[in-house]
Amino acid sequence: MPSAGFAYARWEKFYHNPFPSRQQLEAIAVLMGVDADRLAQMLPPEGVGMKHEPIRLCGACYGEVPCHKIEWQFKTTQMCEKHKLSLLSECPKCGARFKIPALWVDGWCQRCFIEFGNMSKLLCI
Ligand SMILES: [Zn+2]
Ligand SMILES: [Zn+2]
Repeated sequence: MPSAGFAYARWEKFYHNPFPSRQQLEAIAVLMGVDADRLAQMLPPEGVGMKHEPIRLCGACYGEVPCHKIEWQFKTTQMCEKHKLSLLSECPKCGARFKIPALWVDGWCQRCFIEFGNMSKLLCI
């Protein structure tokens, strides 16, 4: 298993080069916990580009399906189309930045432990 540092380096490289090699794609697929073929289909349209940070998240989507969506990292994506919510780039409660999706083992903020699925509800209060 590659270390988290190694994985993060691959993650960065991926975003600097929007059309990765098969090898890079597979490394990133592991990082994001998805299938490499599925990841290839999820790449942004040519010329759109992606941001590797901040990591963004729609809490409502995560509450339904607990996994990171790659389109949240597209430069053109500012909000969740499905929920009409602005994507979060940090915890709405404590302001902590999100870790890379491969490290989202527990699905909550590593600082204040609010669950990702509850973050969008917090914004509605
Ligand atoms: Zn959503
Ligand atoms: Zn927090």
